[in-house]
Amino acid sequence: MNPFRRPPPPHDHDDSRYEIRKSDEQWRAELDPVQYQVARRAATERAFTGRYWDHFEPGRYRCVGCGEPLFDAGSKFDAGCGWPSYSQPVADGVIERITDHSHGMVRVEVRCHKCGSHLGHVFDDGPAPTGERYCINSASIDFEPRA
Ligand SMILES: [Zn+2]
Repeated sequence: MNPFRRPPPPHDHDDSRYEIRKSDEQWRAELDPVQYQVARRAATERAFTGRYWDHFEPGRYRCVGCGEPLFDAGSKFDAGCGWPSYSQPVADGVIERITDHSHGMVRVEVRCHKCGSHLGHVFDDGPAPTGERYCINSASIDFEPRA
């Protein structure tokens, strides 16, 4: 493979490969304006403004778009960055990784595998054992307390 070839653009959040698909009107109706901009338009909420950056209750966090459980409170840690941070998802398959070339950087975007909602990015400066830091927008997730 030619290493200088530009990678293909990432597929759309509404790509046909996602199991759960809704019309743009439906997404706008179901999500509040910030959730819509973050989850469906890959915007980033301002640091220290979301619901969960400073939230440490037992429970789990579901996708705001489709309800899929994505992260457990047990893997959440305080990265000091102003966004909810996790060392791993609840299972390997629930997160989709996409190479993101926006804003002049190369980052790894993470999305819900089921509905394509943008969650945030994953970085390799997290704690042991994974060494990963999932930097997630509060607007993309809903907390469910442990019963
Ligand atoms: Zn989802």
